[in-house]
Amino acid sequence: MDNEENRSPQPLTPQAFRYQVAGYARDILSYGVIRSHVITLMIDDAKVIFVYYDHSLIVESEVLDLQDSEQKLLFVKMIKQMHALSPEALGIIPNLQAPFMYDPKQLKNPGLYLEPAAKEGTIPSHKVLVGCLLTVDYNTKTRQGQRTVRLGKVLFCSNGINGRGTKVIRVTCSCKDGDCAWKGKDGECDWKGLKLRCTDMAVDEHAWVLKHLPNVLGWFITDGGALQVRLKLMFGADYDERLICGSIQEELCPIMDLESQEQFAQVMYDVLQCHEWVYTHPRVLHRDISQANIMFRRDATKKIYGVLNDYDLAALVDERHAPTSGHRTGTKPYMAHEQQRTGWTGPLFYRHDLESLFYVILLLVYHYQRPGVKAEKLEFVKWFTEGDDFIYKEKSNLLRVVDFSWIAAPQPFFGAFRYWLQTIRDSLVDGFSDQGLALRKARVGGQISFDLETLGDNFSYKTMSAVMRNFDGKELVTRNPK
Ligand SMILES: [Zn+2]
Repeated sequence: MDNEENRSPQPLTPQAFRYQVAGYARDILSYGVIRSHVITLMIDDAKVIFVYYDHSLIVESEVLDLQDSEQKLLFVKMIKQMHALSPEALGIIPNLQAPFMYDPKQLKNPGLYLEPAAKEGTIPSHKVLVGCLLTVDYNTKTRQGQRTVRLGKVLFCSNGINGRGTKVIRVTCSCKDGDCAWKGKDGECDWKGLKLRCTDMAVDEHAWVLKHLPNVLGWFITDGGALQVRLKLMFGADYDERLICGSIQEELCPIMDLESQEQFAQVMYDVLQCHEWVYTHPRVLHRDISQANIMFRRDATKKIYGVLNDYDLAALVDERHAPTSGHRTGTKPYMAHEQQRTGWTGPLFYRHDLESLFYVILLLVYHYQRPGVKAEKLEFVKWFTEGDDFIYKEKSNLLRVVDFSWIAAPQPFFGAFRYWLQTIRDSLVDGFSDQGLALRKARVGGQISFDLETLGDNFSYKTMSAVMRNFDGKELVTRNPK
């Protein structure tokens, strides 16, 4: 124990106590076994509150006073009730078969349930998922039915209580030890790709884009069951019932597996080209450009292709202004700054995604001294921890203040990105400055003649490609043959 913990604990304010318990709930929802919700107890001397958390809601029970014999009895009954709840009712997702569920002795295995590396030893470990079986109603265009997969390594998980709790897990068909309903005549399991709106159109002169799209094999949706129905009844129209949505797709490589800055540049340029194609042809706007969604695949000859992954938040371009499409989406550090302004309601433009791509590059080359190794000083670390207001101001300072002294300063490993950053940032500054002028004129003259989609041609696919098609004095590969 260090000195910090030896000190007699300061009494927590009720608010700080709630934050602390919410922190534990977030860890339980983010790590370890896959959960739809968590039930915790807040105990302070003889007062107890039961608290329910899912990814969008916190529900507190009334305060129980254990010094009151009736309330004490109620408390004991509630604990007994909880003990009798099914794994699903306790928050473990449906149709997950985990070894510890039928062999509780496993819970004693050190390191399996709690992450030993965690500071306080309270973060659940991902190892608990390895070897679990998950049965889903699996759909492809040609087949429907249940399918059981065996879970392996957890490749990615988002740490957050609010909104989506994305998890990426390596899976195999569980048929390895027996018969599998999906086994074909050749003995191989059926893992054929889905024909989606995007892949349907990627033929002939568009075939190049297939190398830059994820290969989705199947999908499933599980509803939240009786509990979600009851929450809906209780909270009414304002409450969106939560669903578990999943897809199974071919495994891609994270960009931190790349080795040189030229490879990073090519992957970023590929993603730009893929984004433009998806926007122009299937008319889909991605809306969630982030570092985690930019990946790559290697073909048989070890060539590298950047892939724009995760279309969960994507919207059809022609429906993007519909009020249901949820304007404020994305991953905070990478969101276009306008979307983080209080009261912003759109419109949504493709250039917002390009602004996100700029932040992906900026944060990558400032925060990593080489692939996978963080820099000593993290210039923009507050973009990951602070709220929208703060990030909006920081990004405005970067893009809306005409400051000729700003000089891009990437880490030495990424040194050749300086030109990209400088030019892209300057085109954004020019765009917002022209937009300001046009708005001012419009206030006098009434009409606005300014292309908001491209900030008056200052910031568009065209201007981005003009910068990104070359890197460090060399031409990168342009994928679209046209
Ligand atoms: Zn199989």
